[in-house]
Amino acid sequence: MESPVRKYLHQLFNDTTAMDGGDLADYIPELAKADPEVFSIALTTIDGRTYSVGDDEREFTIQSISKPFAYASALTDRGLEAISAKVGVEPTGEAFNELSLEKGTNRPKNPMINAGAITIHSMLAEPDSSLEDRANHTVEFFSRLAGRKLEMDESVFRSELETADRNFALAHMLRNLGVFEEHAHQVVAGYVAQCAIKVNVRDLAVMGATLANRGMHPFTGERVASRDVARQVLAVMVSAGMYDASGTWFSDVGIPAKSGVSGGILGVLPGQVGIGVFSPRLDPKGNSVRGVNVFNKLSQDMGLHLLNAG
Ligand code: GLU
Repeated sequence: MESPVRKYLHQLFNDTTAMDGGDLADYIPELAKADPEVFSIALTTIDGRTYSVGDDEREFTIQSISKPFAYASALTDRGLEAISAKVGVEPTGEAFNELSLEKGTNRPKNPMINAGAITIHSMLAEPDSSLEDRANHTVEFFSRLAGRKLEMDESVFRSELETADRNFALAHMLRNLGVFEEHAHQVVAGYVAQCAIKVNVRDLAVMGATLANRGMHPFTGERVASRDVARQVLAVMVSAGMYDASGTWFSDVGIPAKSGVSGGILGVLPGQVGIGVFSPRLDPKGNSVRGVNVFNKLSQDMGLHLLNAG
């Protein structure tokens, strides 16, 4: 018999499938080839049960949803103080690919914008690591979060690298301002590799459940990140996870989240669940149209808004 959770997810899926608004991201040529109809939803509870509906095995590149996880990795390796010296935690209200630096310190304002995420990538693995070392370190950390071996999509990686002029420009500015010393091309190539890691919606839910479970993996039992790291990552997802719709998102949905240009949304409800939704058509703010609808409904129907507590 179908469990009540799956039954609910099926209903939500069927009610949302008809939404066909929005557009595929096309500034990375390979992403414009995505099937716009693909749609999937997954939930993983902190005790390790996953429920999913739709095309839940379909892989897509993680893109900006890599940013909170890369931040977790850098915090784990280098500690909050070292990371905070380089990247702040303030929302920008500007586009994700603006330079958005804090006056006086030149720190990128947060790790969810590209300037911040490129800087965070430069701090992954050991200082002086090669491009390959950093990329491998990232895939390895993401695989521990997902509880299975993840891989990179070579064609999306190459497609983005060929058209990454804006990210190269950001990296050159950051290096010129002394934010990092690493070679700008190497850091951008590594960051683009990080964005090209392939996941499915069930992976997102499991990775989210690891953060929801304060850094402890719900299946493998491994402590992948500390409680403090998990909390820090969620705090930044609240203030800056949904591009410049982050304020509206938190007021309406109330679930710490991160979205990406390939059409994924990750949601994390502390102490409860990780949520993944994938549907590639995006609204003008860059968030998946069906994904935003799913989260709004889930939050209302199940009373998941974080500020409902008590
Ligand atoms: N790799 C993409 C970029 O840096 C990620 C953007 C996103 O998902 O928001 O442009």
